[in-house]
Amino acid sequence: MTPVGAVPPLPLRFVMSGTRVDDLPPTRGEVAIVGRSNVGKSSLINSLANRKNLAKVSKTPGRTQLLNLFELPDGTSVMDLPGYGFANAPAAVRAKWPEMIDGYLLGRANLHAVVALVDAEVGPTKNDQQTLAWLRSHELDVKVVATKHDKVKPSKRDQRRRDLAAGCLLDPKDVLWVSSAKNVNIDELRARITEWLAPVADWHPPAPTRKQRAEARAAASVEPPEPVDEYDDEDEWN
Ligand code: GDP
Repeated sequence: MTPVGAVPPLPLRFVMSGTRVDDLPPTRGEVAIVGRSNVGKSSLINSLANRKNLAKVSKTPGRTQLLNLFELPDGTSVMDLPGYGFANAPAAVRAKWPEMIDGYLLGRANLHAVVALVDAEVGPTKNDQQTLAWLRSHELDVKVVATKHDKVKPSKRDQRRRDLAAGCLLDPKDVLWVSSAKNVNIDELRARITEWLAPVADWHPPAPTRKQRAEARAAASVEPPEPVDEYDDEDEWN
């Protein structure tokens, strides 16, 4: 385990909030953070950066439902995705989320990993499990992090670790437990995020999807425009 204080805070800077993946500037590498509302996502982003109010920008009314982008000085970035478990959101907003989030998760170039937050005390919920299944079905590199470690009594932790990991279809050693409130494993998570953001040496672009292939075929079958003779009006030269 990385000793406390061993890893400097991630110097995250808020860049923008967007609704579509196409609105976002390109990145050299990105890690996205997902979790249901109240899982402790904002507190964790603040802890990673060691800033009190960094994630406040994403909590600003209207922004909680957007793609909130934070960047690091080296051109890599962290995406704060809207929380799911949308009980209080108006139906019109709710209806838009899946498309926005799917569009981002499936369309973002250089998305290296998705950190899925699960509440250590109560998780994984059914919603968490559905989200994990969806992410895995799309072959995204999912990293499960359990939040609010301090809320689980020390005497219950071993059992809880096993139950939570089993609920996420993982081995307990593959779930990192953190606490923003008590600064548990925040250094370790900073170190891991830095590692996940590093360029992937043997990365190859994913094979095109059926839709992309169909679009490419359609584009290829369009007749190219007639070549234009730039010196058509020869009179001008005589
Ligand atoms: P978000 O909705 O996922 O962004 O969650 P927040 O970061 O706003 O946290 C939701 C609630 O959980 C707040 O009351 C936080 O103070 C609390 N919380 C967040 N992290 C921790 C933690 O590590 N330990 C404890 N005990 N509470 C936490």
